[in-house]
Amino acid sequence: MKKGLLIIISGPSGVGKGTVRNYFMNDESLKLAYSISMTTRSPRAGEQDGIDYIFSTKEDFEDAIQKGELLEWAEFVGNYYGTPMAQVEKLREEGKNVLLEIEVQGATQVREKCPDAVSIFIIPPSMEELEKRIRGRRSEPEEIVQQRLAKADKEMKLMNNYKYIVCNDDPKLAADLISSIIRRHMEEA
Ligand code: 5GP
Repeated sequence: MKKGLLIIISGPSGVGKGTVRNYFMNDESLKLAYSISMTTRSPRAGEQDGIDYIFSTKEDFEDAIQKGELLEWAEFVGNYYGTPMAQVEKLREEGKNVLLEIEVQGATQVREKCPDAVSIFIIPPSMEELEKRIRGRRSEPEEIVQQRLAKADKEMKLMNNYKYIVCNDDPKLAADLISSIIRRHMEEA
């Protein structure tokens, strides 16, 4: 069986990565599997352990780093986020195209380890729109919102490290574009 692709999707927080993903994730012809990250951040309303993230303690996360269990990891606005390696490898061996939704530092680590990863950066139509979306979540204190906005500025500067840049003006159109990128790479693989 052909090993599945490794697909990295990054973009500033609030850009709508999850919304875009929901449009194409269930398209069976794309053979996708979502890599569930480990994080030390607290769950947001509606987020479920083992589905949205594996919510863990700082100690457990540091233990996973020590044991070399993470494909990549990074600190983001005061919390750790990382990709458990075992599940990614297992899914790819099963022929699944594994989707990593990760921030820029983690993406750099993955590109170094897996140069053939397909990397996609999602941008907002404008920074004003991004701020509106981050505030629209209304789930975080102002200090965290400010940190996410500052981080977004830094992340946007790194978009050229990615193979593809997709603007999320309309999530359905962004999803269609990403689907066609994935299809093209499936044909080439
Ligand atoms: P959020 O707290 O908004 O869910 O995520 C914050 C940022 O961390 C987002 O940019 C998200 O894509 C990124 N992220 C989520 N999981 C991982 C991961 O496993 N590794 C890395 N490096 N970043 C992640």
